[in-house]
Amino acid sequence: MTTFTYDALPGRVVFGFGAVAELPAEIDAFDAQRILLIAGASELELARALCAPFADRIMTTFSGIRPHVPIEVADSAREAAADADLLLCVGGGSTTGTAKAVALTTGLPIIAVPTTYAGSEVTPVWGLTQGSRKTTGTNSVVLPRTVIYDPDLTLTLPASLSVASGLNAMAHCVEAFWAPRRNPVSSAVAADGIRHLAAGLPAIAADPGDGTARADLLLGAYLAGSAFAVAGSGLHHKICHVLGGAFDLPHAETHAIVLPYVLALNAPNAPEAASRIASALGHENPVQGLHELGTKLGVPEGLRALGLSESDPETVIDDILALAPADNPTPVTRDGLKNLLRAAWAGTAPTREEAA
Ligand code: NAD
Repeated sequence: MTTFTYDALPGRVVFGFGAVAELPAEIDAFDAQRILLIAGASELELARALCAPFADRIMTTFSGIRPHVPIEVADSAREAAADADLLLCVGGGSTTGTAKAVALTTGLPIIAVPTTYAGSEVTPVWGLTQGSRKTTGTNSVVLPRTVIYDPDLTLTLPASLSVASGLNAMAHCVEAFWAPRRNPVSSAVAADGIRHLAAGLPAIAADPGDGTARADLLLGAYLAGSAFAVAGSGLHHKICHVLGGAFDLPHAETHAIVLPYVLALNAPNAPEAASRIASALGHENPVQGLHELGTKLGVPEGLRALGLSESDPETVIDDILALAPADNPTPVTRDGLKNLLRAAWAGTAPTREEAA
């Protein structure tokens, strides 16, 4: 018999083409009169247009968004929130992250209107950066109460950013199968997320104006964020976190390169996950399916293409081993990790045998 614990997360989601027309009604549901609008400079025009029907209730606008929410940005946004009764954020993960930083200290509710495929809007995870050090934490107060997903708002996101963001979502879905708080619900959500991402990603790379593909990717991103929020992260995220921090690697590319190799390591000892991932990818071999998808999308061939030297990965093996989850489907050994990193560095086709 399957036994599990599942903490379902609250939140209202309004999804669909034109869904953003529901924003005034969603604002009314909070009876908000003093709204802090949070949107980056490049999304400001869009955000102001969306707020036109209730412009008199926008108390202040904060647009000083920066990646990874530096603490100074959080402080300024918190000051701007004095006397506000609702936070409305329009933008990508950095913008949602800024709203979360404000909610963390003020307890104000958030309505989120995402314009990328980050998925942060459905997680209770916040992140703040002081100098070069990023701290993350989990607090239900930062979980947006309402999320409005409108694929039309993502049409302007360039193909390269869309692919990077979508592949990041793919990593959340794949890893959800062996992450610490996995359960049948998060796995079902993750499998469907993979299906939508695998359909949307190549279509957007071919034609960024493909609305159906945008909807697939946005739904996939929502499902990925939901799976990650419940299941958490595992070995893959630990490897990328250590590599990214040690060698200042680009986040999305590192995830995209490493993911098939972690799947190759785990697949032999997680056959049900492997079979569900394969079926969601529409490929008989999940590892190959993921690798081929990455190649089709122009993912760099191996970590060496990101400027890493051959000996670099070995220098962080101890750091990864210290963080590796004890219940990873394939026990993480020094040799296993060394093989995985060597293959991921070279960009050779990942195979299940690498688990040996
Ligand atoms: P981002 O928010 O930094 O946006 C990237 C760029 O895209 C920005 O220049 C932005 O102005 C632009 N942009 C946004 N929407 C656009 C649109 N529709 N058209 C054209 N340009 C647009 O990047 P992101 O990938 O959305 O988010 C990344 C951040 O989110 C990271 O800091 C990551 O750690 C965080 N994140 C957090 C969680 C969580 O659960 N806390 C989950 C996923 C990601």
